[in-house]
Amino acid sequence: MVKVGRITWELGLNSLKSGNISVLMPNRDIVITKTGKSLRDLHVEDDLTIVPQTKTDRGDASGEFYVHRGIYQASACGRGAILHCHPLHTIAASSIFESGIPPAFNEGRDVLGTTKIVESRNSENLGEDPTVIGRILCMDKVIVVRGHGTFALAERLEQCLYLTHLLENNCRILFLEKEPALQVATDKRSRVDDGILRLSRGAETPASKRPSHE
Ligand SMILES: [Zn+2]
Repeated sequence: MVKVGRITWELGLNSLKSGNISVLMPNRDIVITKTGKSLRDLHVEDDLTIVPQTKTDRGDASGEFYVHRGIYQASACGRGAILHCHPLHTIAASSIFESGIPPAFNEGRDVLGTTKIVESRNSENLGEDPTVIGRILCMDKVIVVRGHGTFALAERLEQCLYLTHLLENNCRILFLEKEPALQVATDKRSRVDDGILRLSRGAETPASKRPSHE
């Protein structure tokens, strides 16, 4: 977990505060990063915590703990690692495409296909919706929450890292090539749904009530 967290920073997949990582133990307890911890420099004793299967309160676990647990309950199927990141190009693409990010090159097509986009619950104090994300990850490997970030589910964290980085590279290619599909999606989205823009222009949340953005 420490190594993968550091690599997410080195690859530009997270800010200094964003992202969280978990691993499902054989007894169904979950090892997860604590809330507010930078993945850049995790320390096992200080920055990771174990949440027992029977515990209902997340304690000092990541604010996205309930999403992690919901994903494991709904869709683990032997996959016991989750990585959540805030990759810039992927987040940008999620605000342009309506329901899915298309593959932009052969590796993206073969491994990812179209990556589904779900709406954000819009408050990281609550965390994202585990039901919706868990249902999609029954079939998919990685998902994008619009305007927020990615959740990848795999057998190992290294695979989660690969999927997240591959999706980010895929989105970079979309922007670099000015993919016609991107332009079509941009035009269509601006016509049928300017909700994201309205959201970004909405009244600001007072600083004291802003989410932690893990
Ligand atoms: Zn996040």
